[in-house]
Amino acid sequence: MAELLVVGSVALDSVETPFGKVQEVLGGSATFFSYAASFLTQVRLVATVGQDFPDEHVKLLRDRGVDVRGLRVASGKTFRWTGAYGYDLNEAKTLETQLNVFADFRPELDDTQAHTPYLFLANIDPELQLAVLKQMRTRPRLVALDTMNFWIKGKREALLRVVREVDVVTLNDGEARQLAEEANLVKAARTIAALGPRTVVIKRGEYGALLLDDGAFFVVPAYPLESVFDPTGAGDTFAGGFMGYLAFRDRTDAATMRRAMVYGSVMASFTVEDFSLNRLTRLDAREIDRRYAEFEDLIRLERD
Ligand code: AMP
Repeated sequence: MAELLVVGSVALDSVETPFGKVQEVLGGSATFFSYAASFLTQVRLVATVGQDFPDEHVKLLRDRGVDVRGLRVASGKTFRWTGAYGYDLNEAKTLETQLNVFADFRPELDDTQAHTPYLFLANIDPELQLAVLKQMRTRPRLVALDTMNFWIKGKREALLRVVREVDVVTLNDGEARQLAEEANLVKAARTIAALGPRTVVIKRGEYGALLLDDGAFFVVPAYPLESVFDPTGAGDTFAGGFMGYLAFRDRTDAATMRRAMVYGSVMASFTVEDFSLNRLTRLDAREIDRRYAEFEDLIRLERD
């Protein structure tokens, strides 16, 4: 088992879906990621929150074994995101983004953090992603990055600079099209790989996920769920399952990458069953194993 470091947002989210509405609940890319990955490996979190951030949220992460020593409490307000979904749950509409304490956040890694073998640059300002990557004292065995439309549009140059340096890029389909400026997803994946990374993972919500690894494609379906309440965090949870598994196995070969795609899909399938991290907080290792086995059945093809 190898350790996994994540930098990203820790947030208070307000979300509306056709099935309900929540106000200022725990969210953020690094939150979903670290919570999900903690089921598979040891996770270290680097982020910032404001003084208004409830202690109980920090306790939730700490109780799962997430190393929260890198979570800095700054004077000011916690990052806030407000989003809404229509019946097409695949696309979030951002109503408001308040960077708050993230506007002046300058991450500083300590020695242990700077030697972590697996690194995930979760969705956050690409300048912060780059600042963390630069502070790594030994080049991690694998660096992955996630982003979103907000940064692709707002900080494209900085984003391209960091994309060039990483091994894996994870995005949803809309973001992949936007980053590659290409409508066809297969071409978009290849275009992104041509920017530098060895691996591109495109998350497609209810349609599953696509992997392009060393030029070879692989696909996993989404778990066929009848009750999807809130897709917020599904992408970050997917990444948490994916990276958590790679770090746990401490391998990045093609077969391990494919199994990691299934772990990503398994973890994301739980997140969407409730708002915020609610479903994940009720999750145990047996349920993860059971759903992984169901996935094996779902994608197995007998020879004729
Ligand atoms: P996803 O997994 O793609 O659904 O990401 C959802 C999470 O991303 C939410 O919990 C938000 O707090 C967070 N988020 C939304 N916008 C941003 C942004 N511009 N930068 C960083 N995190 C964000």
